[in-house]
Amino acid sequence: MKQCPCCESSFHDTSKICDICGYDFEKQVIAEYNYKEQKIAKNKNVQNWVRESGLTKRKKAERIRQVHKVQVGKYGVKLPKAPIAPGWRRKDTAELLGYSTSTIDNAFKNIKVTDNVDIHTFKDEDEMQKYFSNNWDNLFGQEWDIEKQDAKLTGKYTAGEAGEIDILAKHKDDQRWLIIELKVKRSSDDVVGQLLRYMGWVRKHKAEEDNQVEGVIIIPENISERDVIKILYALQFIRIFVNNIELMEYKLEGSSIKLDKIYPSVDLYKDLNHIRQLPQKEQQAFLEEYIKVRKQHGSYR
Ligand SMILES: [Zn+2]
Repeated sequence: MKQCPCCESSFHDTSKICDICGYDFEKQVIAEYNYKEQKIAKNKNVQNWVRESGLTKRKKAERIRQVHKVQVGKYGVKLPKAPIAPGWRRKDTAELLGYSTSTIDNAFKNIKVTDNVDIHTFKDEDEMQKYFSNNWDNLFGQEWDIEKQDAKLTGKYTAGEAGEIDILAKHKDDQRWLIIELKVKRSSDDVVGQLLRYMGWVRKHKAEEDNQVEGVIIIPENISERDVIKILYALQFIRIFVNNIELMEYKLEGSSIKLDKIYPSVDLYKDLNHIRQLPQKEQQAFLEEYIKVRKQHGSYR
């Protein structure tokens, strides 16, 4: 059995498409492309699923966001001014569902005000940090140990003039350090500078010469795309020098947390500016892969 990542219905392993919402298990997308016009054809299944009668406003908004997220997961966030790079925008979700862009935007706004349902979220970074320390075994704990300072149980790490690291961890087997930067509400590209500062501090004060220093930024799932794009621009550019930073989104479900890696990914977020800066050989290899990915996605033929 497999579960549809969009509507969570269960299907037999051989099913190719979710009859409920139209999710394509092979292509991992919901879109149906009209190849001739290179346009998204509206998908009736997914439209019906989002429009299902009797849904609360909040549930409907949730479904819209879920559809959008599945597409972004496959195509990546579309960076502005990178017209031929793969990527997905809210506009595309609007087209797919046959809604206006403002309807889609509204599904991302007002998440809290509808239905009096309490959306569980962390109060602040301290609470989030405590949650991560307490649930460490289920999150990063299989590979990493929290580097504790003094007798503090929280796991926060004072990094001298660099500030306070949310979580500093050391790999159980390898000579690797991990700095985790947690963001509860909104976040922008300044989080990248902050993380780099901590990475620099750990490199200088904690790591041996041959140790690797890595970073993870964890942002909320409902952060604005504009902010995600800012972070991605910064990460993509510094990737030439620092290629060991990941970006993850978190979502709280009851008392458990779900983490999704959104950067880097093989077929995501690779725009032309990034390609241009690679050495020629890498450029060629990259373009080959890029064209392969594009063909698989059917976004041009
Ligand atoms: Zn489905």
